Amino acid sequence: MNTIRVAIDGPSGAGKSTLARSAAKKLGFWYVDTGAIYRTIGLYVYRKRAFPGDGAAVAALLPEIHAEVRYDAEGRQKMYLNGEDVSEEIRIPEISDYASRVAEVPAVRDYLMEMQRSLARDHNVIMDGRDIGTVVLPDAEVKIYLTASIEERAKRRMLDYERKGTPKPYEEVLQEARERDYRDSHREIAPLRQAEDAALLDTTELDEQESEAALLRLIRERVGQ
Ligand code: C5P
Repeated sequence: MNTIRVAIDGPSGAGKSTLARSAAKKLGFWYVDTGAIYRTIGLYVYRKRAFPGDGAAVAALLPEIHAEVRYDAEGRQKMYLNGEDVSEEIRIPEISDYASRVAEVPAVRDYLMEMQRSLARDHNVIMDGRDIGTVVLPDAEVKIYLTASIEERAKRRMLDYERKGTPKPYEEVLQEARERDYRDSHREIAPLRQAEDAALLDTTELDEQESEAALLRLIRERVGQ
């Protein structure tokens, strides 16, 4: 089957998952959040109390991990770790850090590659991550690089923390964002970068509705739907 694959990459906090999820719903596509898969690996490493920056230790744990993407009746992506639903737990702040560290380990990226590709084989998908348009689905029909200024992304993240009842000062959130950006874009394999054939969508000046409209417009222009 010829599927339509929409690859969305960009730094953390640019609004990729919110926008990709709602665009996928409108188009009737599956939404694949690949960050959630890295988070699941990060969670296992966290539970094992291993150091996520130790590539050999992380690689040695991989054979014990069965990470699985499932969809519930409403079409929401759920993550399973060795049969357990960990969709909520992978969102705790420590796991953001573990995920971005295990994502630097080549064995982890190899391990997840086929899983991500197979999800796009039988379904129309919007897949978001850091290396989807460059490495995972280099021949995707639509590629979008979604970003916003680091200050704006930190502001949005700060509001998220407030909403969750765990407020953090702006400077601290900004510093975290800088560190994650640096790690994501300077790692040796599959660093975050805009694919040459990706359309740029900068949401710094756009609200959520405007961003979603712009994203849908870009997708529809390219696939003629
Ligand atoms: O998108 P999210 O913040 O949930 O991703 C968690 C971490 O997983 C990111 O900081 C990034 O380092 C890593 N990641 C990646 N490649 C992807 C998706 C996520 O390296 N395709």
